[in-house]
Amino acid sequence: FLADADLSLSQALRDIHRRAVEQPIEGRVADYIPALATVDPIRCGIAFATLDGEVHTAGDAELPFSIQSISKVFGLVLAMQRMGDGLWRRVGMEPSGQPFNSIVQLEWEHGIPRNPFINAGAILVADTLVSHFSSSRQAFLSFVRRLAGSEYCDVNDEVLASETRHGSRNAALAYLMKSFGNLEAEVDEVLAHYFFQCSVEMSCKELATSLLFLANQGMHPITGEKVTSPRDAHRVNAILSTSGMYDQSGQFAFAVGLPAKSGVGGGIVAIVPGHGVIAAWSPPLNRHGNSTRGLSMITELASRLGLSIF
Ligand code: GLU
Repeated sequence: FLADADLSLSQALRDIHRRAVEQPIEGRVADYIPALATVDPIRCGIAFATLDGEVHTAGDAELPFSIQSISKVFGLVLAMQRMGDGLWRRVGMEPSGQPFNSIVQLEWEHGIPRNPFINAGAILVADTLVSHFSSSRQAFLSFVRRLAGSEYCDVNDEVLASETRHGSRNAALAYLMKSFGNLEAEVDEVLAHYFFQCSVEMSCKELATSLLFLANQGMHPITGEKVTSPRDAHRVNAILSTSGMYDQSGQFAFAVGLPAKSGVGGGIVAIVPGHGVIAAWSPPLNRHGNSTRGLSMITELASRLGLSIF
């Protein structure tokens, strides 16, 4: 699809971005923590990083924002590198059909979270990182910086303090898993890691660049690093396709057809296997927790360029 030159891709992004910002803003900025509620709702950006190392952008694509649940992708990949197949005895791979912070299935399924992208699953993954690294937070940050090719990716201390203060529900998920014997480390340490990774800030440009390995069978095309095996890249993309967009994942597959992950900071990343990675950001969210403008920009880009994997 890139046959008629990079220029047309940049033009398509500018066009799609302009149309998105011309629409009235729908949805509401996340307000479950005060530090996110103050984000400017009119910010809007999109980036498309391609396997040849180019990054095409439009709008606020270089402004860092709170990656929130998108951090679950980096956490999972890091845990897969350390744990191998043993990880899949402690977390499942089925879509949940429930809100991201749901607790009910966790009790029915004896403390085994349905998948690594709901909060319970990401907290379980955080447990494996805390147990494996002497400083899991530092390991997480170095990993993300290396993938993004940027030393500037960092945690926002105000968001981190807010997550920690308002983290009762995540604490409940962690304690429930601990009661079933599916958490090894101390709950406080696991939550500290989970809140830390949610509070990292990155731009669309950095996010798109950092996940290129998932579009390239596990090999990062810019750094040359073999981040995962082709089989594990396939597995991450498979779970992203079924569970990456909260309880709107089915609809997203139906309409767009790309492995994707969103976060309540308003970011969405979508993997285009064999081609590159799209990252979009606009803070107002729909009732599922997905960015409304982010969704419309990615939907339009995928349909214009015929990107669906199905
Ligand atoms: N920090 C948020 C939480 O754990 C992340 C939510 C999200 O982006 O889905 O509640």
